[in-house]
Amino acid sequence: MNAHDSEKVIGTLEQQGYARVQEEDAAGLILYNTCSIRDKAEQKVFHRLNEYKKLQGEGKKFAVLGCVAQQEGEKIFEKAPYVSMVAGSASYRNLPEMLRRLEAGEERITGLDDRQTDLTFETEFTARSNPHRGYITIIEGCDKFCAYCVVPYTRGKERSRTAASVLVEAKKMVDLGFTEIQFLGQNVNSYRDPSGRMSFAELLVAVGELPGIRRVRFTTSHPRDFTRDIVQAIDDTPTLCDHIHLPVQSGSSAVLKAMSREYTREWYLERMSWIKAAKRDISITSDMIVGFPGETDADFEETITLVGEVKYDAVFAFKFSPRPNTPAVTMADSIPDELKSERLRILMDRQREIQREHYGRHLGEMQEVMVESYNPSRNQVVGRSSQNKTVNFSTAQIAQPPIGSYLSVRITQTLPNCLVGEAIADAEALPFVALQRVADFVVLN
Ligand code: SF4
Repeated sequence: MNAHDSEKVIGTLEQQGYARVQEEDAAGLILYNTCSIRDKAEQKVFHRLNEYKKLQGEGKKFAVLGCVAQQEGEKIFEKAPYVSMVAGSASYRNLPEMLRRLEAGEERITGLDDRQTDLTFETEFTARSNPHRGYITIIEGCDKFCAYCVVPYTRGKERSRTAASVLVEAKKMVDLGFTEIQFLGQNVNSYRDPSGRMSFAELLVAVGELPGIRRVRFTTSHPRDFTRDIVQAIDDTPTLCDHIHLPVQSGSSAVLKAMSREYTREWYLERMSWIKAAKRDISITSDMIVGFPGETDADFEETITLVGEVKYDAVFAFKFSPRPNTPAVTMADSIPDELKSERLRILMDRQREIQREHYGRHLGEMQEVMVESYNPSRNQVVGRSSQNKTVNFSTAQIAQPPIGSYLSVRITQTLPNCLVGEAIADAEALPFVALQRVADFVVLN
């Protein structure tokens, strides 16, 4: 989400007449987009700002954006007086005006008071970094207030874009050649079309049915708002990717309650049963936190049994660490760091075991893979399957495919974190093979 915010900010600046440079030394204005998801984020930001200090004599201007900007606010001016602008993400739609004030010489510009806005940051000038796969933010902010999370405090209240505006952006992307679109939102499936025209599932289908679209993804979903029609939409619409990221955070209902997640283990497992009952083989991934205050050995064991029951395709697990201004900071029964590390290790070992076994189901399958890069040391192409798995494959039968193309790959080996295969020349790949031959001919002439 933060990376996509940067794409939108860059596009907005370019539209205002700024040109992007690769090195800080060549810049007149340095914008530092911050994220507070990691531990000690604010210390890291101030450390980096300290490094900018030496550049201030060169007449450069500095702006701090994002969650740490929102969280630390005007304190940033005190600690780093050479910073001229501090803005949270809910204020980005005011960037053109803030930039004008900056150019006019104002020294303390803030965008910190917009968290209660109903407006979203919509721009037609997004500078997307990948020409094939692009993001669309459909919902901003969060009203869930999980006990450990800063997002509702930094990104403001939940607000959705109209389905009409999302569809216009998606159509423009297709016209530009994008074939994969990923919907973004802190809770993407909490989407509520302000015009009341479409549900989240209907919007997924509408974008999936745009001519030229090959893949539609969405992240991150919240179990509380996860409805059965999302699974139905995936079953009915081939372009919707067969992957759902549904963070559970803990397998223990007691810990989920302490986290204010507003669902139980049973509620979550019911949603898993809907996904597993789908006609398509939908991969399931999750985020997990270990060592939340008060998590007992028995609670942790429930996380381990849940992982075994769901058989996730991937788990992103983290040790709990407190975030400023969140209820979890003051919770009793904190878990010693060594115990958190031990639980994290046990969880990841178990998950690796599951992936080693569970990925075996793909052996011998033909999978459609979107090409992402080339690994010369292994002479392999690296791509991604609809299930969002990395596929490393050889191209013995065909010419090397371009980035962004789609190929059929036969899976010949499965490893715990990726699939290995061989590309097969098929109807999708043939036009490219022909093009290569023409190009060779031209070169020879
Ligand atoms: S739902 Fe997600 S973004 Fe919102 S508070 Fe909970 S963890 Fe944070």
